[in-house]
Amino acid sequence: MLSSDIGAKVQELKARLTEINDLNMAQAVLVWDRLTYMPPGGITIRARQLSTLARLSHERLTHPALGKLLDWLAPYADSLPYEADDAALIRVARRDYERAVNVPATFVAQLADHQATAHQAWAKARAANDFAVVRPFLEKTVELSRRYAEFFPGYEHIADPLIDRSDYGMRTADIRTLFAQLRARLVPLMQAIIAQPVVDDACLHQHFPEAEQLAFGLAVCRQLGFDFEHGRQDKSLHPFMTAFAPDDVRMTTRVKENDLCEALFGTIHETGHALYEQAIHPDLAGTLLGQGTSAGVHESQSRLWENVIGRSRPFWTFFYPRLQEQFPRQLGHVTLDTFYQAINKVQPSLIRGTADEVTYNLHVIIRFDLELALLEGEVAVRDLPEAWCSRYQTDLGLDVTDDHDGLLQDDHWYDDLVGGAFQGYTLGNILSIQFYDAALKARPEIPADCANGRFETLRAWLAENVYQYGRKYTAIELVEQATGGPISIEPYSRYLQTKYGQLYNL
Ligand code: ZN
Repeated sequence: MLSSDIGAKVQELKARLTEINDLNMAQAVLVWDRLTYMPPGGITIRARQLSTLARLSHERLTHPALGKLLDWLAPYADSLPYEADDAALIRVARRDYERAVNVPATFVAQLADHQATAHQAWAKARAANDFAVVRPFLEKTVELSRRYAEFFPGYEHIADPLIDRSDYGMRTADIRTLFAQLRARLVPLMQAIIAQPVVDDACLHQHFPEAEQLAFGLAVCRQLGFDFEHGRQDKSLHPFMTAFAPDDVRMTTRVKENDLCEALFGTIHETGHALYEQAIHPDLAGTLLGQGTSAGVHESQSRLWENVIGRSRPFWTFFYPRLQEQFPRQLGHVTLDTFYQAINKVQPSLIRGTADEVTYNLHVIIRFDLELALLEGEVAVRDLPEAWCSRYQTDLGLDVTDDHDGLLQDDHWYDDLVGGAFQGYTLGNILSIQFYDAALKARPEIPADCANGRFETLRAWLAENVYQYGRKYTAIELVEQATGGPISIEPYSRYLQTKYGQLYNL
């Protein structure tokens, strides 16, 4: 092989992959618009546009010429160091190609169309507080999810191919083991806390006007390092982050005027996702490598900033006087201690998004188990409300009062396939502490810097050890490399025991 031949083939590969990336990003822009500004009447045409783009992208990704090119380049990739950009690009392109060729283009087009219409049906059902409105759509989603899994015969569990889409390399069995270990720690901790006097969090439930909440949230994003030259924030029914490139990162929030936490912690959460995307190395931008590596690693960053930092004492040492300035009437007389206890109040609740750190994972485990049951055929969609209620009763001791705060609270099952939608949150919580501990070991001044509003110390460590790589390394490789060990619940469990042991005098 002449090196000029190799150079030309690598260029051809990059050109093909860029085209696929651009089609995918055009879809992402249309989805962002659908979830933010599109009038409801635009849905039918939007679903078709998304379906067309999904099909075109899929046809390019599964084109036999791309397969041949990857075969031709395989010896070159093998000759390079594992960490070389070209080696990573060829490796990840091969993985995406092999996954995509199993799935017919007609299925991809049908799924894109279904996602758009199902999501709008969810919004209607949620407004009407009536699961029946979206039930036929979810039935279709479960059917499509099963069909998707069947494109990958030989799986160990039917959810494996679905989990693989968002958390590559993780299997149902691995996640079940981790979640069972975690649950065994969480339940006694929750019980011990519930036995303590209830924390008064009335200070968070006063009237906080929307405009002022949004202004404060933006000031926090800016201080954490979000770059508004290369990103923006809008409002949506369910908050999310989407990146078209490191140069253009969008996030959304939603506000409740009688609850300070909803927009505040939601905003910090999405900022964590955005900081990751904005710091991906420019050389990887516009290629298949230029995005976060997995759902779990992505959530590790949103949850790290939202909780490990955003609900920490040093963070509020800096921000609380500023928050009091923004809301003097509501918080002028509330001490930092009272506020800190209130934002860390542990109480079983019906809502995952705003759940405290201790009970949060129990919400995720319920959803994960129900996803598996739906795919296995153990639970039918028509029996899902009952299954949901019964799990909330046994796991959190709560009666679910309605669909809005029950199985319509999250949009995941109505926006994508079922299976693989939720495990990333708990994997992310577990990983957030593993990354944070590693950062702290390298830079012990991080808490003191946070207390002085200097978040760049932590951000720089994360950029260097996690963010810059995009999809170059798998989640498993990245965790090993950045933290020196495999994924483990021990550091996270220790973190919860220590933090909440102190807060609740356990
Ligand atoms: Zn998230």
